Order: sequence, then C-alpha cells, then structure tokens
Amino acid sequence: MAPAPYHEMACEAETASEVLFVCRDESCGRRVVVGKSRPRLTVIDRGNFSVRHAGSLGGVAMDEVAVA
Ligand SMILES: [Zn+2]
Repeated sequence: MAPAPYHEMACEAETASEVLFVCRDESCGRRVVVGKSRPRLTVIDRGNFSVRHAGSLGGVAMDEVAVA
C-alpha cells in the first residue's frame, strides 16, 4: 500500500489570536488560518484539498482530518 498523501504546513504569520499556515508544497498553495484559543479553521486558498494537511506551531496544532 502506498502511504496516504500528506502535506506539511508551516506557520507564515501569527497574531495574538490566530496563526496563518501555508502548505510547503509550492504546487499546492493551500493556506488556512487557525484560531489559537478555540478550534476554528478558515480556508483562504483550498489548494489540493484531497491531500491531508497538518502542521503545528508551539501550542497550536492543526490536523485537518477531522474538519476536511
Ligand atoms: Zn498542500
């Protein structure tokens, strides 16, 4: 079995309440904003939405499996 497609996202910007994550795959370009204090995810650019995306920054972790 081939491993499931997976993209890692990196933090590109941060505010007191939100973190901007950008996909490291340049052909994808997915960008999302994740709330820090409560679970909230806003998609800015969908990119390749069939691929699982995950990333983390400090205490902020994002895993889109549950919200895809
Ligand atoms: Zn991606």
